Amino acid sequence: MVLFLLVLQAVFVSAIVLFTIAFFIASLYEKEPKAAWMAGAVVVLLTGLELLICWLYGLGFFFHPAGLILLLAGLAVIGYGIYFFGRHTGPNATALKGVEGLIVGKARRFDEREQVFARERSIRPDSEQYEAFYRSHPELAQLDSERRRAGGLLGTPGAIDRPGERPNIAAMEAAFSIPPHFGKQKNHSPAVRLSEQDRPALSPEDAARRVKGFARQLGAGAVGITRINPVWVYSHRGEIFYDNWEQWGQEITVEYAYAVVFAVEMDWKMVSTAPHTPSVAESALSYSKGSWISTQLAAYIANLGYAATANHSRHYDLLMTPAAIDAGLGELGRFGYLITRELGPRVRIFAVTTDLPMECDQPVDIGVEDFCRFCKKCARCCPSVSIPDGAQQEVNGSLRWKLNAESCFGYWARAGTDCNVCMRVCPWSHPRTLPHRIVISLVVRNKWARRLFSLMDDLFYGKKPKPKAPPAWARFS
Ligand code: SF4
Ligand code: SF4
Repeated sequence: MVLFLLVLQAVFVSAIVLFTIAFFIASLYEKEPKAAWMAGAVVVLLTGLELLICWLYGLGFFFHPAGLILLLAGLAVIGYGIYFFGRHTGPNATALKGVEGLIVGKARRFDEREQVFARERSIRPDSEQYEAFYRSHPELAQLDSERRRAGGLLGTPGAIDRPGERPNIAAMEAAFSIPPHFGKQKNHSPAVRLSEQDRPALSPEDAARRVKGFARQLGAGAVGITRINPVWVYSHRGEIFYDNWEQWGQEITVEYAYAVVFAVEMDWKMVSTAPHTPSVAESALSYSKGSWISTQLAAYIANLGYAATANHSRHYDLLMTPAAIDAGLGELGRFGYLITRELGPRVRIFAVTTDLPMECDQPVDIGVEDFCRFCKKCARCCPSVSIPDGAQQEVNGSLRWKLNAESCFGYWARAGTDCNVCMRVCPWSHPRTLPHRIVISLVVRNKWARRLFSLMDDLFYGKKPKPKAPPAWARFS
């Protein structure tokens, strides 16, 4: 009996030691010396404990009532701990409804002309459209002209890394030069569609399987399908890239019923340098990949005989984040980005809208909303204090945390990058090494695991983690 109990505790402790060794190795890979050091200390402590237990066993300690009680108590604590942190603590009904679950009032469609990128990179001062826009939005006129005078959204690109920023800005510009090549090919219309009788016979399930499979084959990190909610279609066109000014202010209508939404992973090593220039080069690369994948995916669907439109940085019909939530890619984080289970927030999102009937995915509850309630790490680390650390509030009819976009963009202009600090520090951003995969699987199902691992993230990685050194090719100093 005593021997059986001792073997049982040794199995439990060995499992913890193995996990901690894996965490130690992962921390070395992540270049987290403090976390590695602490993991090493835990391994030494637990090994010492096991040696002590062996020694006490040799002395016959566990055959005395006091020793047996101590052993049983230790096993009870371990057993209850596994149950307490491993059980499913109940679903978040709001998250399972997708964006619909966030709606508390009347949500209006968003006008693309009001979007900061449209204001910055499309509309030209002294143009007819400029006059018309600022007549109806006088509150934005001063802010936008100041930003233009400072050089636009990124101000002086790479300013934060001067004087060594040029190679990374060259990489950023190279990547940003790709989507314009694809923007004009966004629509895959009847010209390239097969006639009705030549279409392959695909059930909605088979169509979904093939389209998602091809998207992954092209390099998408996570893929989902949703029916398009018209509320998340932009109301009017505001982004103009090819002198097609006749479209500016036109109402946007999407006749298609479905959106294939996918995430492109941003490389962890590059993001971990944020707010420095490697991270903005990585953002640009993701937009480049997204345009390439979405254009081919739309062409693939067209070659199956259906209409499709690629949504990427040179053409959006939909707001990507709500569409991604409805397609089951993840949940909305405190900082306003999507957090996916597979890749955390280290993603950029793209879509293909289409009339190809496909089986849809359902929104998911991965515990993000609950995690964000007490984590607040992004709010603590944001250099422009743009992320709220309080409760959610109603924004355009939906209940969520409201990022102060203007002060966030103000920091972009000062740094000359797209910052990405919030993405870097988020506990969901860690590379998916084995220990982080285990932690995510617990966090997804258990509210107490969320609290525990949020605290441990601060303990092991720091409350305000510093940026890491970039890969050698992307050094800036
Ligand atoms: S991108 Fe930077 S400035 Fe903007 S919210 Fe995130 S941390 Fe703050
Ligand atoms: S850092 Fe924390 S609070 Fe912010 S989005 Fe990530 S999990 Fe949520």
